[in-house]
Amino acid sequence: MLNPDQILARLEQILLMVEKPGRYVGGEFNQVVKDWSRNIRIALVFPDIYDIGMSNLGLAILYDLINQRSDALAERAYAPWVDMEAALRSSITPLYSLETKHPLGAFDILGISLPYETLYTNTLNILDLAEIPLFSSERTQRHPLIVAGGHATFNPEPMHAFVDAFVVGEGEEVIGEIIDVFKEWKVSGENRKTLLNRLSQIWGVYIPSLYHSHYFVDGTFSHIEKLEADAPLPIMKRLVAKLPPPTTRFIVPYIDTVHNRIPIEIMRGCTRGCRFCHAGMITRPVRERSVDEIIQAIEEGVRNTGYEDVGLLSLSSSDYTHILELVNAVGERFHSQHLSMSLPSLRIESFSVDLMDSLKGTRRSGFTLAPEAATERMRDIINKPVSTAQLLDTAHAIYSRGWTTIKLYFMIGHPSETMEDVQAIADLCKAVLAEGRKVIGSRAQVNAGVSTFVPKPHTPFQWVPCESIEMILNKQALLKRELRGAGLKLNWNSPKETMLEAWLSRGDRRLAEVIFRAWQNGAKFDAWNERFSYDTWIEAFQVTGLDPNFYTHRERPIDESFPWDHISTSVRKKFLTEDYLWSLQGRTRIDCRQRCFACGVLPTFADLRRMNPGEVWQCPEVKSKKIVIQDFSVNMDVLSPGD
Ligand code: SF4
Repeated sequence: MLNPDQILARLEQILLMVEKPGRYVGGEFNQVVKDWSRNIRIALVFPDIYDIGMSNLGLAILYDLINQRSDALAERAYAPWVDMEAALRSSITPLYSLETKHPLGAFDILGISLPYETLYTNTLNILDLAEIPLFSSERTQRHPLIVAGGHATFNPEPMHAFVDAFVVGEGEEVIGEIIDVFKEWKVSGENRKTLLNRLSQIWGVYIPSLYHSHYFVDGTFSHIEKLEADAPLPIMKRLVAKLPPPTTRFIVPYIDTVHNRIPIEIMRGCTRGCRFCHAGMITRPVRERSVDEIIQAIEEGVRNTGYEDVGLLSLSSSDYTHILELVNAVGERFHSQHLSMSLPSLRIESFSVDLMDSLKGTRRSGFTLAPEAATERMRDIINKPVSTAQLLDTAHAIYSRGWTTIKLYFMIGHPSETMEDVQAIADLCKAVLAEGRKVIGSRAQVNAGVSTFVPKPHTPFQWVPCESIEMILNKQALLKRELRGAGLKLNWNSPKETMLEAWLSRGDRRLAEVIFRAWQNGAKFDAWNERFSYDTWIEAFQVTGLDPNFYTHRERPIDESFPWDHISTSVRKKFLTEDYLWSLQGRTRIDCRQRCFACGVLPTFADLRRMNPGEVWQCPEVKSKKIVIQDFSVNMDVLSPGD
């Protein structure tokens, strides 16, 4: 294995030949370099290029937490772009960490972030570039432990063959427990299997090699079998009862990255219950940070980084209980510092316009609204009820307050969508533009972003088929025909890229071979449309004898077992089933802060809720062992997690 000096010597030649060498050198402001010889060494890996990975908040939090420990260090690695990969391969140089240039194979643990499925082949590529066996079963004592976390790992099965341990859920606490177990194991001299068994006992850790999947003859999933008596089943997601103080010591890159700003998460989770929304279901319950804590974090973040841009992040920012107080406090406190603020994910209501209006320094080029569907019928089906009149009123208010462009986000392919519903997207865009013209004339602009709905596991739509390529193309053709002319712009996704996401997100263990074959045949950077090759994936399916349509276009019976059922988000399958059936009738649910619908979060985490009283959580308080929520009661003694 090469040492850091040898790698540095090679980089002096290699970096002269590649685009943006700043991606590969490290040494940025706030990077942490610790004593390599006395710590548990963790490489945090984002399987896309530096420019994207540097904006990943999850890895920034873990980097900070690990480096605060006196017995561990964290360094970083990203996917090299194709020119750098070619240079590394031709010079037989392994992928290395940015901080100290150690090869990734020399670390104790690789912590890989998998927020979405289109990073799977890049993950294999990174392991290969690091000279680490791709398959978990081929790794020995001398190889790093491969751990993966992130939203995609709520269905870990397609990647089960390549990852030793998945973290399902929130990482802030579990990372410390993994390091503790690893440290003890490292000095014990015991075998790798013992390490995996110990890790499996940590809440939120899933060791796929301790389970075996069974299928029916028709190819549908039957059940998962434990191979060790004490392997947990179900595997309950990890939850942080109270969000820890926000990370504020961010690394400041030398080159431009996707977001050059201080990201502060103001709350986690969402109570709105949009039925298509994976994040909204898997991050329940809503937990909020206090205004004081957020203000303090902004102060520290500005001091530590010099950034002039702050992102106040959450799934639905206007639902943060103290949003007005926060925005006012930020305005007062940072008035003289020319700090620019962004508040993503605002609801469609005039209150959102007031909020954006009061954010000093906000650029007025574009205001984003996400109705997701254009008819009230469709918005009821997806449980995002907002009236068209309210939407047009909000648009009017936006143009009146000085914005010239409204960005409208829609999805096509929702369950039961017709061509009339798609036509309504074009009609609604034109109606919004007409509102703008009333206010600011021909300066008004509407940019429509139309993606295609992909049914996700653990959501009320996990049963529904994904639209076929032909149907997506028909719908997109209609929109392209209708949404042209002055003031209108349309963006859309390639339906072939949608298929990849759809295959992988509801895939089972058999897809591991498809991923492997696709990677072998050159698939990587699948999230980049100029690099994505649909044909490579189809060939991989053909080689393995699997039918891609089985994973996408099949309507699943309501009682079908799913390959991800053993992973529990704490939201019960019974609740998801009922919500799916409600959607078929066009029945909606109100915000569950107004009425708890007993989704399963409270019975599972009743103790945590009891220990965190007040409005830290947006679920009702739990006073005693017997909890009563509206017309529903649960006896804690008879409930097992994930019930
Ligand atoms: S337990 Fe009730 S309030 Fe909490 S997330 Fe579930 S439905 Fe909403």
